[in-house]
Amino acid sequence: MDKQEQQNSSVTESAEDALRHIVEGFRRFRRDVFPQQQALFKKLAHAQAPRAMFITCADSRIVPDLITQSDPGDLFVTRNVGNVVPPYGQMMGGVSTAIEYAVMALGVHHIIVCGHSDCGAMKAVLDPQTLERMPTVKAWLRHAEVAKTVVAENCGCADHNTLEILTEENVVAQLDHLRTHPAVAARLASGQLFIHGWVYDIETCAIRAYDAETGEFRAIDEGPLPMATPRARYPQG
Ligand code: ZN
Repeated sequence: MDKQEQQNSSVTESAEDALRHIVEGFRRFRRDVFPQQQALFKKLAHAQAPRAMFITCADSRIVPDLITQSDPGDLFVTRNVGNVVPPYGQMMGGVSTAIEYAVMALGVHHIIVCGHSDCGAMKAVLDPQTLERMPTVKAWLRHAEVAKTVVAENCGCADHNTLEILTEENVVAQLDHLRTHPAVAARLASGQLFIHGWVYDIETCAIRAYDAETGEFRAIDEGPLPMATPRARYPQG
């Protein structure tokens, strides 16, 4: 076996291991976990009534159900690179479809947009050269361009925490985009829908939430939750 063959074989082996791990996990789930939650899955078999829609990054380190201790059926999750919400009308894609469905068909009362620390997408927005061979990612991340401009115009370039600030600004930008969707705008106006902007820190397990009134992100601790929802103009009786 020459060197190249050895390399290939080790790559194949590790790919096989990766899949085996996933399939064995499923078997363990079916054998050990599923029987304990059978009643829940029976209830969920024909209907869902999620507590919230959760829009976050595709990053494997963010596990919405785990960090919010949610059960199956609790969260309607949509994930993509950079937790992006394209503005209404620009792209009738998966995110816009999921938003419309969550609001109109499922009647969710909360939409959470959740960014995170060490986000590869945000790093790429700061350093677009890394995307030269990824035209699709590059095109997608133009929806985060607004956040980059806000940071560039308002924060000193010597800021050591540019990535952190950009990550927060991106969440604010995506909340703005979210409000351009007619279904969202209508239910916000009637006070039936609440929107939330979070940034989750992988290492410390902290979540900071956007407070639209002060324009700042504050830790979700005890006390009142920072709110990103604009005032309802047509509150329902
Ligand atoms: Zn990310």
